[in-house]
Amino acid sequence: MPESNKEALQRLDAAHHLHPFTDGRALQQKGTRVIERGEGVYLWDADGNRILDGMAGLWCVNLGYGRQELIEAADAQLRQLPYYNLFFQTTHPPAARLAATLAGLLPGDLHHLFFTGSGSECNDTVVRMVRHFWAERGRPERRVIISRNNAYHGSTLAGASLGGMKPMHGQGGLPLPDMVHIDQPYHFGEGRDTDPHAFGLERARQLERKILALGPERVAAFIGEPVQGAGGVIIPPDGYWPEIQRICQKYDVLLVMDEVICGFGRTGHWFASEYYGLAPDLLCMAKGITSGYQPLGAVAVGDRVAETLINGGEFFHGFTYSGHPVACAVAQACIEVMQREQVVERVRDDIGPYLQRRWASLGDHPLVGETRGLGLLAALELVADQATLQRFPTDTGAGLICREHCFEQGLVMRAVGDTMIISPPLVITHEQVDELVEKARRALDLTL
Ligand code: PLP
Repeated sequence: MPESNKEALQRLDAAHHLHPFTDGRALQQKGTRVIERGEGVYLWDADGNRILDGMAGLWCVNLGYGRQELIEAADAQLRQLPYYNLFFQTTHPPAARLAATLAGLLPGDLHHLFFTGSGSECNDTVVRMVRHFWAERGRPERRVIISRNNAYHGSTLAGASLGGMKPMHGQGGLPLPDMVHIDQPYHFGEGRDTDPHAFGLERARQLERKILALGPERVAAFIGEPVQGAGGVIIPPDGYWPEIQRICQKYDVLLVMDEVICGFGRTGHWFASEYYGLAPDLLCMAKGITSGYQPLGAVAVGDRVAETLINGGEFFHGFTYSGHPVACAVAQACIEVMQREQVVERVRDDIGPYLQRRWASLGDHPLVGETRGLGLLAALELVADQATLQRFPTDTGAGLICREHCFEQGLVMRAVGDTMIISPPLVITHEQVDELVEKARRALDLTL
């Protein structure tokens, strides 16, 4: 794009476009980055720079950019039936087929699917569904949903309330009533002087203490991301999830896994619940379900909850674009490609372990206090002093500085405070992993 076109676009954007999760003043001062094209794991900006997308968009473009199979599936469905709804006893082939396909992939007895248009809508659906479930079972006082500080469950009122991000709560008077939080199992950030296993168990047992403090008869569900993504790729210590499941079962609290990031191979399993040996009552998915080519989400529902819902009369809930036919057709094609190319197995046995090995090699850099990861998720912690693991003062902005150096190197890496995180497309090659790690190292050198 000629310079003048780019600048004209930036001017239009600055004048009329309010961006999500963006500091408006910074945008007015620095202008927007214009991304024009994608192919495989790479993006091209309006200046012609090639950028390795270490975040797969927003954790979603798992099959990479430019996949013909997904484009053709969308094209064919747009011609066949571009839209119809699923309300009032109606279905269409893409939604019915996709529900059956997902039921065959999901762990445990998650045999029923409620479609939405996004991850946030999944979590709003969860809130309404679990409260409706308990009301139908004659326990309407079971309304409280417990989640975790620093969790991310979306941006709608319910999603942001379930989430535990204080700046989000601060805007709009959240959380909504009957949504409470316990601490996260963030060992490096909040317990690095303690044994990780003991720390994980202690954090899980906060759930039991919270249930007892509230009164078990009031608690409807616990919701958590298997690995907290937006909070900084926080991987719970072993023992954490089994203990959470044990506590949920003991008090008959529904277990909801938010697999909006972790689902569809990100951890080397179709769903991370399999990896952690969990049998959730509900499971949320979005993002990788279509590789980000179409907006789609789904709540998978176990037999017990589904039976109550089915026999409970009309559930007054749904979205115009619940299970949009084009999105469902793309999801079906996406799953078929993943199966044909054994994408999940490759993440588990080959590219996941390779990325983790290469990523761990950054641990010798003087700015790095910890590296961690699972599958194709990884994080590193920036520290001012590697020997003592002392953090930078918060106003240093080391994470943001490092992120900008990554961009200059042609790499998208995200900063959550001073935690640098990646979540590249699942189709990344060994050579591209090497490129990612080399660029990350150069960015760290420049951040020093
Ligand atoms: N849940 C999790 C775990 C997420 O990471 C996200 C988005 O990043 C959401 C929910 C919200 O999804 P969406 O942005 O599609 O509404």
